[in-house]
Amino acid sequence: MAADHPTIKLLDKRDARLRHGHPWVYSNEIVMSPEAKALPVGSLVSLRLANGETAGTAMFNPKSLIAARVLSTRFNENVDATFFKGRFAQALRLREKLFDVPFYRIVHAEGDGLPGLIVDRYGDVLVIQAGAAGMDRLLPEIQDALTQLLSPRAIVLRNESSARQLEGLDVYTKVAAGEVPERVEIVENGVRFLVNPEKGQKTGWFFDQRNNRRNVAALAKGGRILDAFSHTGGFAITALATGAQSAVAIDSSADALAVAQESAVLNGVAEKFQVRRADVFDELGALANKKESFDVVVCDPPAFVKSRKDLESGAKGYRKLARLGSALVAPGGFFFIASCSHNIDQVRFEAEVAGGLAQAGRSGRIIAQSGAGPDHPVHPLLPESAYLKSLTLMLD
Ligand code: SAH
Repeated sequence: MAADHPTIKLLDKRDARLRHGHPWVYSNEIVMSPEAKALPVGSLVSLRLANGETAGTAMFNPKSLIAARVLSTRFNENVDATFFKGRFAQALRLREKLFDVPFYRIVHAEGDGLPGLIVDRYGDVLVIQAGAAGMDRLLPEIQDALTQLLSPRAIVLRNESSARQLEGLDVYTKVAAGEVPERVEIVENGVRFLVNPEKGQKTGWFFDQRNNRRNVAALAKGGRILDAFSHTGGFAITALATGAQSAVAIDSSADALAVAQESAVLNGVAEKFQVRRADVFDELGALANKKESFDVVVCDPPAFVKSRKDLESGAKGYRKLARLGSALVAPGGFFFIASCSHNIDQVRFEAEVAGGLAQAGRSGRIIAQSGAGPDHPVHPLLPESAYLKSLTLMLD
C-alpha cells in the first residue's frame, strides 16, 4: 500500500532544480504554509511542483535552509526497511565490484541516493552517521535493513557531525546493536590496519584516502616519508608496507598514534616507524630548524574551512601548511597535500598551495590532482559534495 505523506508545494518558478533531479529543496523555494511549518522536524513529505505535478518523496525540516532532501522520485514512496534494503543493495553492488574485501564506505549520502546518511563497513561492524533530521527519525528502519542485508555483529551510531547541529539534532555516540570490539582489523590496499569504531575520529577510519595512500606509497618506495596529521597512520604504514625505508607520523591525538603503532606491528614494520605527538605546525617548523628532510611529505589536515565565513582564515591555513610542508621535501622528492573542506574549491586550494610553495622558495610540478575514492560517489548535480581535494607535486 502506498504511503500518504503530507504534501509540500514548491513555489512557482522555483522548481527548476528539482525538475532536473537535484536532491535538495531550499526553504525559500517552498510554500511555507502554517501546516508545513507545524510538521515535526524530519517528517516524510511528498512534493508537488507549482503546476500541481507530483515530484517525489522527501525528508522535511522547516527549520533548516535545506528544507527538503529528496529520497525518491516517486510520490508517496513507502520509506520503510524494504525501501532502505533496496538502496543498500544497490550501494553494496557497487562496492562489491570495486573491492574484494568488505571494508569500505558502503553508503555515501546523496551519492548513494540517501541524503544525510553515511555508513562505513568494517567487515561485520557497521558505523552509521545520520546528518539530517529525516535520517535520524528513520534510524530504526535503516538499522533493520542493514541487519537483514549484512547480519552485522555490531552497529555503532556516531551521530556527532556538525551537520547535526545545523539540523537541530543532538550529538552523541551509541552502540545500537551487538558488542563493539576496541579494535577491528581491516585490509586496505593489501595492508592491515586496526580501527577503533567507537572512539576513533569520525567513524574510526578515513576510507576516502584509499587510492591516495596507494599512490603516495608508490612514490615513497625506498625513501623516507613524513606523515603529518597521520591519525592512525594510513599513509605512513601503507608506504612502509610498500617498501619505504622509514616513516615519521605526527598527530596531536595520543589515541590515534597508539592505534598507528599497533598497526605498524601488525604489518611487521614497527622498527621503521616513529610517532610524534605534537602540533603539526610546530613540529614542521622544528624539523626545518634541525635541517631534516624527507623524500615524501604528506599533509592531510582536518577541515580548515568549516563554514563559508571561515574561507579566508582557512585558506591561509592551507598556504601556511604548504609553505612549512614543502620546505621539508628533499630535492626531487614529493609533496602531497589534501583538503577535506567542502567550502574551499579546487581552484582556490591550488592557488593557496602554489602560494605556500612560492613562500618556501620551492618550485615543482603537479603530478596528480585527486579526490576521494569511488566508495565516495558524488551526485552529479552536487559537485560541491566532492569535498576531498588533493595535490601531489614533485619538487625541484
Ligand atoms: N591522514 C589521516 C587522516 C587525518 S584526519 C589518515 O590517512 O587516516 C586529521 C588528523 O589531524 C586527526 O587525527 C587529528 O587528531 C589531527 N590533528 C588535528 N589538528 C592537529 C594539529 N594542529 N596538529 C597535529 N594533529 C592534528
